[in-house]
Amino acid sequence: MKAITRIFRRKDEVTPVTEDMNISTPTVVTHTLHVTYDPNTQSYEGIPDAWKGYIEAAISKDEIASNPQAAIAAAKFWKYSIRRKETDVKLIPTPQVIQEETEAIEHIFETGKDSCEIVEDFTSVKKPEEDQINRKEEQSNDQASNITLKSEDQVDRAEDKVAPSPVQVRKKSPKMSDEEVMKQFKLLCSPRNPETVYKRDKELGAGASGTVFIAQEKASGRKVAVKDIDLDKQPKKELILTEIRVMKDLQHENLVNFLDVFLLNNHLWVVMELLDGGPLTDVVTETIMKESQIAAVCHHTLKGLDYLHENGIIHRDIKSDNVLLGKDGSVKVTDFGFCANIIGDEKRQTMVGTPYWMAPEMIEGEPPYLKETPLRALYLIASNGKPVVSSWNKLTPEFQDFLNRCLDVDVDKRASAMELLEHKFLTKAVSTTTLKPLIEAAQRILGKRISHTP
Ligand code: ATP
Ligand code: MG
Repeated sequence: MKAITRIFRRKDEVTPVTEDMNISTPTVVTHTLHVTYDPNTQSYEGIPDAWKGYIEAAISKDEIASNPQAAIAAAKFWKYSIRRKETDVKLIPTPQVIQEETEAIEHIFETGKDSCEIVEDFTSVKKPEEDQINRKEEQSNDQASNITLKSEDQVDRAEDKVAPSPVQVRKKSPKMSDEEVMKQFKLLCSPRNPETVYKRDKELGAGASGTVFIAQEKASGRKVAVKDIDLDKQPKKELILTEIRVMKDLQHENLVNFLDVFLLNNHLWVVMELLDGGPLTDVVTETIMKESQIAAVCHHTLKGLDYLHENGIIHRDIKSDNVLLGKDGSVKVTDFGFCANIIGDEKRQTMVGTPYWMAPEMIEGEPPYLKETPLRALYLIASNGKPVVSSWNKLTPEFQDFLNRCLDVDVDKRASAMELLEHKFLTKAVSTTTLKPLIEAAQRILGKRISHTP
């Protein structure tokens, strides 16, 4: 069980807290909810109905029977992702918050290792049936599994019975009213009307938080990309506010850099560098990259990520859609500031980030398990571990080792961006200008032309 729960813990991923959170020392709980898998009836006893539904819709009975722990671990992580999604920002403002959050996450995952009667009180931020999960990690995962959960009323009862325990309360600034948020936006935004500064051009596409279009700066003729966010459709405006504040301070050659922000009729115009080569997805799906080119893209992507990490920011959604290319071959990470949320398809609404393994997609054209639903993809990862790369034997040993370091299911062994930057595979990297013909070919095949060079 230990290995399975560790799969889903990401060592560099900590959750910034946006609401008050009380963390107490462990409290003694007298009633626990036992979830048992019965191999004879092939069903779970004592599991919340909603969980049963999630698991059974995505994973067949035979699969559950062959690996019940993986099914529960996948469902648990999936539910956890949904809940996190509701309150999350991707930014971690200070080292102190990073430290506190790391400890909080460690508590969640480690609590109950020795005794199923010990739980942490995270009730102000978590639904107990989702999160007060005892991880009896050393349990055998064959045959009947026995996972201890704690139901909501049990938490209440536990609180009544237990003498007050030392509670660490995180001091938070009071939640801002909508009026206050709008006032802050006005202070942050350039006071000019963006339509006097930029000439709006064609649309590039729509994402979860808004629409991206090309614009031309009237004074210089420079082309930029603008993300138009309709604030009336954003329930968590203060998160966008925080993120824009931080984005303003981050500039790196491997990030799609923020240029300016305006407010027009309750729409934010977030002005960014225009990457006219399109997303890396187009190149990996339409062309075949050489190892030296893959190394170059990895090198630049890792430099961007490492810079984010140094600044206390985690991306959490690294995939080829979020690596944008310039026609000159420049490689830049995007979408590190905004949470994907609100409007969009089911996957985007319900998951933080992407549940599919993505690293081998440059070799195979798409990530493993792409055709599966998120919960099923999680189950397959938990059951099968590292995905199989079909052309594995054709890869050089350096590339194989690099992939192994990226894809280690044990988060403590998995390499960080900083460690990967030292990997031998990256010494194979060629200049990113060698990507130019691939970008052109992909754009030709897909009938895309983002922008003529002015
Ligand atoms: P998500 O909401 O998950 O981010 P998305 O990436 O499709 O989804 P957006 O980030 O809003 O949505 O981007 C919409 C489109 O605009 C995408 O095709 C994206 O590649 C493109 N795009 C975004 N930013 C830029 C940019 N700076 N330069 C060029 N194209 C961009
Ligand atoms: Mg995007």
